[in-house]
Amino acid sequence: MTDTADIVIAGGAVIGSSIAWHLATHPGFRGRIVVVEPDPTYQFSASALSAGSIRQQFSQPVNIAISLYGIGFLREIGERLAVEGERPEIGLHEGGYLYLGTEAARGVFEANNADQSRLGANIALLDPAALAARFPYLSIEDVAIGSLGLAGEGWFDGYGLMQAFRKAARAAGVEYRKARVVDIQRKADRIEAVMLDSGESIACGAFVNAAGASGARLLCEQAGCPVPVYAKKRSVFSFAAKGTFPAHPLVIDATGVWWRPEGTGFITGYSPDEPEPVDFAHDFEVDWPLFEEVIWPALATRIPAFEAIRPGRAWAGHYDMNLLDHNAVVGRLGDLANAYLACGFSGHGLQQSPAVGRGLAELIVEGSYRSLDLGDLGFARLGENRPLLERNVI
Ligand SMILES: Cc1cc2nc3c(=O)[nH]c(=O)nc-3n(C[C@H](O)[C@H](O)[C@H](O)COP(=O)(O)OP(=O)(O)OC[C@H]3O[C@@H](n4cnc5c(N)ncnc54)[C@H](O)[C@@H]3O)c2cc1C
Repeated sequence: MTDTADIVIAGGAVIGSSIAWHLATHPGFRGRIVVVEPDPTYQFSASALSAGSIRQQFSQPVNIAISLYGIGFLREIGERLAVEGERPEIGLHEGGYLYLGTEAARGVFEANNADQSRLGANIALLDPAALAARFPYLSIEDVAIGSLGLAGEGWFDGYGLMQAFRKAARAAGVEYRKARVVDIQRKADRIEAVMLDSGESIACGAFVNAAGASGARLLCEQAGCPVPVYAKKRSVFSFAAKGTFPAHPLVIDATGVWWRPEGTGFITGYSPDEPEPVDFAHDFEVDWPLFEEVIWPALATRIPAFEAIRPGRAWAGHYDMNLLDHNAVVGRLGDLANAYLACGFSGHGLQQSPAVGRGLAELIVEGSYRSLDLGDLGFARLGENRPLLERNVI
């Protein structure tokens, strides 16, 4: 059976649903949007397994601008995504990010801070005395500099954000189809239809690939426009600690280990170069040796009270890792006239979902970005081997 839609979106998690909602509510759009999503529980989607945090402390101007828009959107989510008077609640807590650096990192911290401040992010550089006064529970003998987000950074319920976009998209008329896109029919410079695992196909006016770590690369390949986006496993661990840690931010330690408050305890993680990225997100085994050998020692060194923590539950998810430069690939898909993609978020897709959804809706409906130019994240840089390198990635 063949169906027809004006827009078909593969992947209905936070990115696909944000694009769908922004399209459906764009004043210039009239048409039928079908989101194809195989797993309505989202149990393996990165959007359901993330650490749910947002920062302004990037080094690329486009990422800073995206997060500045993102925090504004999250602050107003109750009004923006309300459905029939029901306001979504995502528990946004602007606790800030605190990057800790040794003397060797001072130059990068100062350069980043100059760019962040110029673009309107509220980030302060702190010397050891200021760090000790503000965070007396930190042990900072080896720390030369800290970079603290004073506003616009923190954490929230990422699953809640995804569900809020999905619910608002459905209320705006978007249809969700429980299926997987298994093949793409391309003719010249157009995607004519997508084939589903149910045996059905959908002829489409335009196609958007938002299929994340386990789907986006294959769909790009099938469309004849390969991207270097692979699945990379990340484990997140929770723990409880005795003591009081007032105004505790999300800390990115000089070792690369990060942690932040979550409920009455904390969550933590670390991004090792290993394991190698893989084609599909299939291994969801938690990397407990990483916790014991790398993370816990780093926690205990930085906060002596963390020597005696009680480890709790843990989970693993996958980044959709763009191996070229660890930044998203957003915009038109290669040389295709009616295909778009949003993938390769490499660990910051939740916070980027509002701006990316808005941007792609503008590109599809109006033919160009109108509010924020996302051109730096475009597909062209892949073929030209022109990486958009971030100095701050976790
Ligand atoms: C451990 C961890 C911590 C993270 N922490 C943060 C953080 O603190 N802040 C932040 O901003 N980001 C964070 N991220 C990253 C963030 O979760 C992702 O960038 C974001 O969720 C990507 O959203 P997505 O919709 O593109 O992908 P996903 O959430 O992976 O969704 C892709 C969807 O596509 C579907 N799909 C796959 N193949 C197909 C197909 N062939 N056809 C149709 N549908 C298909 C899948 O079922 C899935 O639901 C983290 C990620 C992980 C794993």
